[in-house]
Amino acid sequence: MEVAIARRSVAHRRADDYALTPLRDSRPATGRAASVVECEHCGQAVRCRVYSVADTIRFRARWRLVSRLCIVAAAAVLLADAISIAGHLPDKPASHLAATLFGLSSVATAGCVLLSIRANRLSRDEDGVRLASWSDPHRLRWSSVLPSD
Ligand SMILES: [Zn+2]
Repeated sequence: MEVAIARRSVAHRRADDYALTPLRDSRPATGRAASVVECEHCGQAVRCRVYSVADTIRFRARWRLVSRLCIVAAAAVLLADAISIAGHLPDKPASHLAATLFGLSSVATAGCVLLSIRANRLSRDEDGVRLASWSDPHRLRWSSVLPSD
């Protein structure tokens, strides 16, 4: 199936982001519109929703906000850990519960950092195109970073 790639009008930071999702139609002026795109996994034509430039920019801003909130959460957990550790001197060891909470907070911190990295990447790669149905096994983009089947 041959699909013409329409360059989208949303400004990307990297030039190669324009080809994330090959589109036949141009973006709607406002809201969203239905379109057809070739699945990067199987090559079938699948229905998708294409959002306007303003909505796409809003999606990116949301991902940036999520990324920043995750960093703030990680910093808050680290600060709480530092305060907790400061209260437990070598002659006064932490209780089992405090040690368990410290371990769990370390995992939470790592999760926040990883989620922040992911959200930051999504804010950069967001192109305002979604599959019409969540149940479809098709993929729109980023197939190059998925493990091969
Ligand atoms: Zn597919």
